[in-house]
Parts: sequence; C-alpha cells; structure tokens
Amino acid sequence: MEQSELNRGLLEFLRRSPNCFFTVKNISEALEERGYTPLGEGDRWVLEPGRGYYTVRGMSSLAAFRTPPEQAFGGFHILACHGDSPSFRIKPNALITAENRYVRLNVERYGGSLLSTWLDRPLSLAGRLLVRAGAGVESRLVNVDRDLLVIPHLAIHMDRSANEGWKYSVQRDMLPLFAAAGGPGDLTGLLAETAGCAPEDILDTDLFLYNRTPGTVFGLHNEFIGAPRLDDMQCVYAALRGFLDSAGGNGLPVLAVFDTEEVGSASRQGAAGTFLADTLERVSRCLGADREDLRRILSRSFLLSADNAHAVHPAHGEKADPVNRPVMNGGVVLKYSAARKYTTDGFSGAVFRLLCQKAEVPVQTFVNHADIPGGSTLGNISGTQVSVPAVDIGLAQLAMHSAWETAGAADTLHLARAAKAFFGCTLDICGENARVEL
Ligand code: ZN
Repeated sequence: MEQSELNRGLLEFLRRSPNCFFTVKNISEALEERGYTPLGEGDRWVLEPGRGYYTVRGMSSLAAFRTPPEQAFGGFHILACHGDSPSFRIKPNALITAENRYVRLNVERYGGSLLSTWLDRPLSLAGRLLVRAGAGVESRLVNVDRDLLVIPHLAIHMDRSANEGWKYSVQRDMLPLFAAAGGPGDLTGLLAETAGCAPEDILDTDLFLYNRTPGTVFGLHNEFIGAPRLDDMQCVYAALRGFLDSAGGNGLPVLAVFDTEEVGSASRQGAAGTFLADTLERVSRCLGADREDLRRILSRSFLLSADNAHAVHPAHGEKADPVNRPVMNGGVVLKYSAARKYTTDGFSGAVFRLLCQKAEVPVQTFVNHADIPGGSTLGNISGTQVSVPAVDIGLAQLAMHSAWETAGAADTLHLARAAKAFFGCTLDICGENARVEL
C-alpha cells in the first residue's frame, strides 16, 4: 500500500458512495472481486475452511469474514465502522411550491450536520426505490448522478446580522430548490427514469441528499485530504484495504460496517441490533462450535471501533483537552471516556498500543475537554450486543459533520496498516492478560 494510491482509491470510493446503500454495494463488489462469497441471512450457511464470505442486512450494513484454514481459531478480530453520514432524508409527498415560482423538496434532518455547510453547493439525491415487480416488491438503488439541487442562503443585504450567527430552521431554511414552477415538478418521473421503471410502480423510497462537491488532496505538501463524508468513510476504506491485504494470525477476521450510526444505531441493521451477534453466532456454529465454545471464543475476541476523531482546531485550541491534542497525520487516535462513551479501558488500550508498536503505526490519544461533553459512537452500543474487549479509535479530522470535512492524508495509510496488522495478528487473550504477535 502506498499513501497517494490509497487516497486516490478513497476519493473514488467516496464519489461512488453517496450514502450507506452504496457504501455496502461498493464494498460487496470489492469483496466479490477478491473471491468472497455472499451469504443471504435467509439461507442455510455452509462454510468452507480458508474462504472469505460476507452478509448484508437491510442493504445498508455489511459483515465480511474469513474462515480459518483449520477449524480452531483464537477469537474474532472485529473491526467495526459506520457507512452512513449526516444528511437529509426526503419526506413522503416531497414537493412543495413556493411563491408560485419554485419547487422545493421537503426534507428532514438525518444526523447532526453543521447545517450552514450544506448551503450554496450542488447537491443531488441517492438511495433506493421500492418498485412493484410482478406480485411483489423489489429494492433498487438509485443515484441521480448529476447536479440537481441547491439550498440557497438569504443574501447578506436581507439580513445584515447574518455573520453574527443564524439560527437555522430545517423546515424553513433547509429545503433544497428542485425546479422552477410552471410545469409540475416531477420527482417521481425523474426517479423512474433514472431507475428504469414506470413511475406508477414506485411504491416507496429511502432517499437522501448528498453533496456533489468532489474530494481532493491539498495543502503545501499535499498533507490534507478534504471530501464529503470522511467521517466515517476514511475509516471504512482504510479498514477494507487492511482487511483485504491481511493474512495469517490466529484470529477469525471480521469487518463490520453499520448503517444508522448517525441517528443512534437503534435499527434492524444498526450496531444496537443483533446483526453482528447473529453473524458471529452463525459463523461459530458453522465451524463446529456450540454455545459454550462461542462464549469461550468471545472471551478471546477483540473489537476495534473505528470512527473519525476531532483534531485540535487551529483557531479553537481551548476546546481540546490541555494535553491530549490529536493532530492530522499524527497517527491513529485512541479515544478514552470516563463515562464509557468510548469502549477503551486500560487493558484494551494497552493491547492496541502494543499492536501498533509492533506494526510501527503511530498512536495519539483523545479525551474530551472535561467541561465539554463529546459525541459517542458505535463501539459501546455494539458492546451491549457483543461484549468483548474493545477500543475506540479513529483518524483526526477538522469540521466533523460539515458537508465537506478535512483530515490527514497520511492517516488513511496509518489506519490501513493498523487494520492489516490487527486482522493478521496472533492475539492470545486470557482474562485481562494478552499476548500480541505479528
Ligand atoms: Zn462517525
């Protein structure tokens, strides 16, 4: 792996992944290119030794794994990240006319965006259509892959205090302009044409806005990468590459990519659901393990929850902890929280630090400023379903949840190398002691 090739791959992956449905589609294609076999959740699983498989729930969460060459293995080496990003969901009956001149799309917020960053830039729509097919319903992905929408600011002349702060109302301010009124603004017709179906056959939709602004590598020494959805696609892509490149060790590698992290993970396919636990149970059963064996395997397993982290801001150093101040390109960030918003404890942190030392990957630490409550992520939520030693990690970035985020160009490679080492390591966990070998 090489840094610029990896970041080119990340930007292309981002461009083709406007939301979680497409993230999962693109990961599935990358896995199948490497010989991984898809497994339906409704099928009876038969697993062969030394093979790669993946399964999908809700078209938007995915778990990939490789069976060991022999049946026995140490534990699951699980890396989990999220494939969704803050956006806006299109409401049913989406067309709203304004001033008899404009057609806007009615939306609601998906996750915690920095709202202002979505204004005055080309946007489009992607997601899935539920289409009548014979006597049934068929899911079809749809991406209107062109500049289609804009959410316009109010001019400074009409609000001279705009630069002193503006309180956004999503319902009033964030509805994107779709068409000039005059004819009927035909959203269904556009979707049907894009998906190649009849308008009357569209029974329902799951559609989201996305930012069309392309990503880029920039800075005096090309040290930064900027793009929409770097949280958490930088981790997703680095983890995927590390997973595909890894081999050996005593673990059963599992790459999990979850949807609905940005809205709290409580969904059928989210980290609070049973998707990962179900998958691990089925895999172990197919490899001959009973419930007692599974409990023993889980006690020897380890989870990396990878989600981007806050770099110290150049103009707002006061928001960061006085001494734990992650920087872009400073390596993988290990996150701690006394409230256990992050899963890391002394034991799991030590195991991860040792792994990274052996893999020669730099590690830095993040803790919230004690007076500023931070966000949370899927690690502790997933831990309520699959309780194994875990760390929360991420890559340092600026402007998290902006429509266009900035991160370190060297860090994609840092995480890809850490992931490769983790999936391919020999990890022996016995109680609160461990041995790590690459
Ligand atoms: Zn995230």
